[in-house]
Amino acid sequence: NNFRQPNTMNVNKVEFTQLAAAYSKVNLGQGFPDFAPPKFVQEAFCHALNEGPMMHQYTRAFGHVPLVKSLAKFFSRVIGHEIDPLEDILVTVGAYQALFSAFQALINEGDEVIIVEPFFDCYQPMVKMAGGQPVYIPLRPKGDGSVLSSGDWVLSPEELASKFTPRTKALVINTPNNPLGKVYKTEELQMIADLCIKHDVLVISDEVYEWLTYDGAKHVKIASLPGMWERTITIGSGGKTFSATGWKVGWAISSGHIIKHMKTIHQNTVYHCATPAQEAVARGFEREYEVFGTPESYFQQLPAMLHHKKNKLASLLKSVGLKPIMPEGGYFMTADFSSINEAKDFRFVKWLIKEKGLATIPVSAFYSPEHGKEFDKYIRFCFVKEEATLDAAAEILKKWS
Ligand code: PMP
Ligand code: GLN
Repeated sequence: NNFRQPNTMNVNKVEFTQLAAAYSKVNLGQGFPDFAPPKFVQEAFCHALNEGPMMHQYTRAFGHVPLVKSLAKFFSRVIGHEIDPLEDILVTVGAYQALFSAFQALINEGDEVIIVEPFFDCYQPMVKMAGGQPVYIPLRPKGDGSVLSSGDWVLSPEELASKFTPRTKALVINTPNNPLGKVYKTEELQMIADLCIKHDVLVISDEVYEWLTYDGAKHVKIASLPGMWERTITIGSGGKTFSATGWKVGWAISSGHIIKHMKTIHQNTVYHCATPAQEAVARGFEREYEVFGTPESYFQQLPAMLHHKKNKLASLLKSVGLKPIMPEGGYFMTADFSSINEAKDFRFVKWLIKEKGLATIPVSAFYSPEHGKEFDKYIRFCFVKEEATLDAAAEILKKWS
């Protein structure tokens, strides 16, 4: 069935990750920290490994009980809704599997799914594999082209409204966004929520970078807006939360009547997730619950550290003639390179990797084929890196520019 064939778009990101492994000296491509997770979660993982034989065996299939309890406690306070740990949460192999389970469980043949561009590249093939039809709407830079912040990239309410049809089943948003770093404001989320309520549409909200906001931007959960809990699946990542992307612990939080369908998919594809990693993430959240809102919280310390790295990368890019878009959140900074090179982003990125040893990702990989051409002058840099890595990137860029 051709309809279910994902197209080659997200092969592109894999291709660039492979090129980076083969040629690059400095990798600002794929999104992962090259520094260690905080001590308290590393210790929690070690503790779990030494806790006794059961920590090495299967645990509850839909989520290790200590983890779903700590997630429920933590996020009930954040969302302002009493979350049932056993009914309203599914623990998955990273946010990836939460996304996959959501599409498989809720999208039927011919259902339309609205995807905001630029988007994390797996949404499109995952929608197609479920038999759904992606419908794209791009964020567009407003004003005179002198865009400096991801906040200037906005949805047109009229254009968004025009994308809803009787076949629209779900809408996917990602805030803070990968790759732009846009953090949706309450008014923007309310506009999306109003349309989803009007058309009885589900929202899949990918919030893996929820703790990473900068310069006063505030992350708002669309599930916390009136009338949205019942129709929103909020997806999170222990890897992104605690800078341990290799642990691959993720989750989906929603009303039990939605989660139960995702449990069926999970039960028949993956079933169990690694026990000690879940235990460590549970302990991480218990600790964060206690120190929430204080300077001891990792959810304050990590963005403070990344704020500095973001500014350092932005100054570097400006100094060599690129035009960075300042992200309000997340792991990434995109930059317009058209004033220094006329190539399209894919060619420019290949040249940067092969000839200069610096890995980045072309931004048109985060667009549908229809819209990618309009946005092929941008490349994405990951700045969640050691100072030495950023300095090595600076060396490369300064030498060549
Ligand atoms: N969503 C977005 C927006 C991402 O950038 C990523 C990559 N970390 C994921 C989901 C997948 O997260 P995980 O590593 O927890 O599977
Ligand atoms: N989310 C990360 C990125 O966008 C890594 C995941 C991936 O490589 N697909 O780079």
